[in-house]
Amino acid sequence: MGTDSDTVVSSSYDDLHHSLNVAVLSSPGMGHFIPALLLANRLAAHHRVRVTLFLVATSAAAGRPNLPPHDPLVRILTLPPVDISHLVNPSTQVFTKLCLMVRQALPAVRAAVAAMDPRPDALIATHFAYQALEIAAEFGLPKYVYFPSSAWFTALTAYLPVLDREIAGEYVDQAAALRIPGCKPLRTGDVVQPMMNRKEEQHEDYVRMGKNIPLFDGILCNSWQDLEPETFRAFKENEALKSVVKIPVYPIGPLSLCSHVEPGGSGSELMTWLDRQPSESVVYVSFGSGGVLSADQITELAWGLELSRQRFLWVVRPPADNGGHVDGAFFNMGKAAAGGLELDYLPDGFSARTRDRGVVVPEWAPQVEILKHPGVGGFLSHCGWNSCLESVMSGAPMVAWPLYAEQRMNAAFMAEEAGVAVRVTAEGVVGRWEIEEKVRAVMEGKTMREKAKQLQKSAADGLRRGGASEAAMRSVLARIVGQKM
Ligand code: UDP
Repeated sequence: MGTDSDTVVSSSYDDLHHSLNVAVLSSPGMGHFIPALLLANRLAAHHRVRVTLFLVATSAAAGRPNLPPHDPLVRILTLPPVDISHLVNPSTQVFTKLCLMVRQALPAVRAAVAAMDPRPDALIATHFAYQALEIAAEFGLPKYVYFPSSAWFTALTAYLPVLDREIAGEYVDQAAALRIPGCKPLRTGDVVQPMMNRKEEQHEDYVRMGKNIPLFDGILCNSWQDLEPETFRAFKENEALKSVVKIPVYPIGPLSLCSHVEPGGSGSELMTWLDRQPSESVVYVSFGSGGVLSADQITELAWGLELSRQRFLWVVRPPADNGGHVDGAFFNMGKAAAGGLELDYLPDGFSARTRDRGVVVPEWAPQVEILKHPGVGGFLSHCGWNSCLESVMSGAPMVAWPLYAEQRMNAAFMAEEAGVAVRVTAEGVVGRWEIEEKVRAVMEGKTMREKAKQLQKSAADGLRRGGASEAAMRSVLARIVGQKM
């Protein structure tokens, strides 16, 4: 999906891209940092580009899950933790907090870029770090934005300022689905979290993000053509969308931890338990790095799993306090639970009754290692984009249970377009009988599993040496080489 100029500079690319030196800026949150690290690794390992990866750190205690080892050409620089406590109140949403954290980190980013010798040849910022545009302009750097998400969400974000101008009233109250030119229409119940209430600060923040995206030189998207043909075609051919997004969109995905983690590699107690389970018999249950359920919902989920009589591996977190946010663990950055945690919020007798077929892991588990284990046959997921990709790349169909951010869009896509998921009811507490039914549908159904295996193959084809992901990345680097000359 390059431009004509790619052809012109292709010989220079071959000569020059090995000497490229790129700065990648990641916003906080594992869902952003992991794909940024994967991008850095890919640039280094497949294209011999030197990468400095800047991570905006939070002041929250930050544990580290098992991250893949990084290529020697990748240097990770954690910026000094930012303090936004004077800028927020208890109702400030994660979206706004992320924007504020990046803003507060800009002086440190600026100083770090200024100190780089040689200066980077380009800056790639994750979408929440779009504010680094001003730093790219100051240093005269080519600038690219990286959406570690679907092309559909990327299109919505860039098109949002138009929807904001054209639609009166709340999006959720519209009679018809929202139209993004050339793309799957977006049901009003599936809008992303910052679009749910236009009076909230996070909506303004999201519109501002949307307005800035087309100011980059290009968009890198962690998806691939075969997964989202309609949307990638729209970026290239739909005049209404192109009048807003005039820059190229590069389908560089699917970058995922799955390419780096061996199934059962750790030999841990958990993996030993999985080794003993029959092939594709375990449903893995996890709500990502940030998801938290209410006490009532945890009870229903426990009953649903028990009633389904399927084997399960469930990553649980203590319930959200009254009025707590469903994304309450977002800034924990992969923190594992301290030993000996009491799981007293599970129904009485649950552990004893399910001991022969279920395992409960507090807070955090090695998700990719688990998903790639042959014993796992399904994934009950909150549908963060990384989790969706990891599910696809492990060939596991999903029970889609979105909670926040753009997860409703991801769930709709996985269920309706990709055909590899069933969704739980959108509103309120999901009851035990529905959970039982959907878990069984995913674990016992054949069609979805076959579809998941086909998608797994399509993802692997795109990622192979000389495949579509590499070609898209080459186009980006060719542009950068051209911009350098
Ligand atoms: N993850 C993990 N163990 C957990 C929960 C999450 O390793 O217990 C990883 C997961 O594999 C994924 C990332 O954290 O790579 C979560 O990203 P995603 O986009 O799915 O959701 P988010 O956490 O951003 O909502």
